Amino acid sequence: MPQSEFLDDIDARLEARGFTPESTLAAVSICRDELTQHLIADVTRRWGPTFALGGLGGIPALGRTGWGACLAHVPDTMDRGRLLVVGATHIGIGPDGSPGHNLRPGQGAPTPTCGALSALEASWGEHPPAGPDESGLADGEAQLLRSLVEDQLDSPPSDLVELTRAATAAVEAEMMAQLDALDRWDVMDVAVVTGVQVHLDGIEDHFLPARAVVRGERGSTAEL
Ligand SMILES: [Zn+2]
Repeated sequence: MPQSEFLDDIDARLEARGFTPESTLAAVSICRDELTQHLIADVTRRWGPTFALGGLGGIPALGRTGWGACLAHVPDTMDRGRLLVVGATHIGIGPDGSPGHNLRPGQGAPTPTCGALSALEASWGEHPPAGPDESGLADGEAQLLRSLVEDQLDSPPSDLVELTRAATAAVEAEMMAQLDALDRWDVMDVAVVTGVQVHLDGIEDHFLPARAVVRGERGSTAEL
């Protein structure tokens, strides 16, 4: 559905659970691609400036230190703080209707979207060495993405759409695992919304929802 329609629907559901812009910090885990900025802008318009969680492919890549800062910014003058986390992969639909590309401003031909997932698809099964890189271009985020997406698939993905679905499952699984590791359920409720941001040619971004839950005391989970 159109991204704004989806976010309106989420807003209404969250409001019923006590999430208001005053009581809530919003955080977004989305790929670094400039096309994803529309999602950040739409969430910001509704909830205020967002904390950036995301690395390549939409994987939350901020680590314990990053999460520490994020959680420290959650409003704390209410009974419980509230954190809204939006985690999404993204995919383009090119001018010819084929998935995995977008024609970007000022360019003569479509380029891959998501570029990180497209690169992962092209190098599936390869495992470059981890750690510092003499070139100065260490690729830690791409390696994290590769590892988490591989965990979701038993065999090589048949195409970018299947890979994007697997990456979306990886974003959700990793988000939940990281929130559980942080274990701040004593002081805050966390809404977790996941899905795929879809960039279409010449019209508003759409959003394909995967899951929306609210997690409360002791990490309890209720569908939103
Ligand atoms: Zn991307």
